Amino acid sequence: MIINLISDTVTKPTLRMLQAMMAAEVGDDVFRQDPTVNRLEKMAASMFAKEAALFCPSGTMTNQIAINVHTERLDEVICDEYSHVYQYETGGYSSNSGVAINLIKGQNGKITAGQIKDAIKPEFDWLPRSRLVVIENTCNKGGGSFYTIDELRPIHQLCKESDLRLHLDGARIFNALVETRDKPEAIGELFDTISICLSKGLGAPVGSLLIGNQEIIKKARKVRKVLGGGMRQAGYLAAAGLYALEHHIERLKIDNENAKKLGRVLATLDYIENVCPVQTNIVIFDVKAPFTSASFIELLEKFGILASPFGPQTVRFCTHLDIDDTMIEKTVEVLSQKITKAV
Ligand SMILES: *Cc1c(COP(=O)(O)O)cnc(C)c1O
Repeated sequence: MIINLISDTVTKPTLRMLQAMMAAEVGDDVFRQDPTVNRLEKMAASMFAKEAALFCPSGTMTNQIAINVHTERLDEVICDEYSHVYQYETGGYSSNSGVAINLIKGQNGKITAGQIKDAIKPEFDWLPRSRLVVIENTCNKGGGSFYTIDELRPIHQLCKESDLRLHLDGARIFNALVETRDKPEAIGELFDTISICLSKGLGAPVGSLLIGNQEIIKKARKVRKVLGGGMRQAGYLAAAGLYALEHHIERLKIDNENAKKLGRVLATLDYIENVCPVQTNIVIFDVKAPFTSASFIELLEKFGILASPFGPQTVRFCTHLDIDDTMIEKTVEVLSQKITKAV
C-alpha cells in the first residue's frame, strides 16, 4: 500500500467518475459546441452567482488569464508573498502580462485590507500602477489557512473604493467552504474573478475554471486561446468536473479532518517542530536536525509514505480523496512508533 501525501493532485478518477466521462456527450469546444463543457461552465458560474465561466486545463492558466484580463503592462499585482501566482507560476505574471508584483508579508499566507491599503502605490510616473489584488483561499504555502467571509468583506470594500480589481485563487476554495459554511454565491459577490481547481481535492484528472461576468470571460476566452488552452472534445474532462462538483465537495470535510488528525499526532513528536495550525487538508511542519526534509522523506518512503519537501527542514503532507482511514492509521503508526524508534 502506497500512501501518497505528496499532493491532492495525485487523485485518480473513481469508477463512477470514469463512467460519467465515458458517457459524456462531446463536441468541438473551440466552436462552443461541446454540450458538456457548456454545462460545466454554466454550473460553476451559477454556483458562485456569476454570469459566466471558462474551462481551462490548469489553475496556473486560470490565474494567468485573470492577471492578463485585469491588468495592463506596467501595472502591478498585490498579493501575499506565499501566493501561488508569485511562487509557483514561473513568474508568468511578468512574461504573460508585463506586470510587476508587490508582495505583502501576511500571516500564514493571509493578508488584511489594512495591509493592502498600505501597499497601494500613489500615482507617480516612476511607479507601477496598483491594479489587481490576488487572494488565495485556502493558502497552500500558508498551511491550508482560510479566510472567513468577514475577513474578505473589508478587502472587497477597499478594492471597490480604490479602483482595484480583486481575483480569488480558489484552487482549494471548497476545502475552506466546508469549514466556514459560507455559501459560494456569497464569495462570488466579493470577487471580480474566481479560479477553482477540479483536479485537486475534488478528484478530477484535469481542469480548472475561471468564473466572472460575461465581459471578463469573453476576454478571457481569447487569452486562453493565445495561451494555447483552446480544447476540442474537452467534454470528457468536463464530465469529470461536473461529477466532482456534484459528488465530491461535501466529502472534503473528511480530508480536512484527516489532516487535522495528522497535525495533532505530529505536534506530540520529539523530532518534529513548528507544525503549522492545520485548518484544512494541508499539514506543514519542520523536522529537527539531524533530519533534513530530504532524509525524513526518504525514511518515510521506506514505509510506503510519500510526502513533499517544502524547505530544507520543512515537509508537507496533503490529504485527499484517495487517502482513507486505514492509510491515516498506518501513517500515524509509522510517525509515532516506527520512526520514533528509528531516531
Ligand atoms: C494547484 C494550485 C494552483 C493551480 O495549479 P495547476 O497545477 O496549474 O492546476 C493555483 N493556485 C493554488 C493555490 C494551487 O494550490
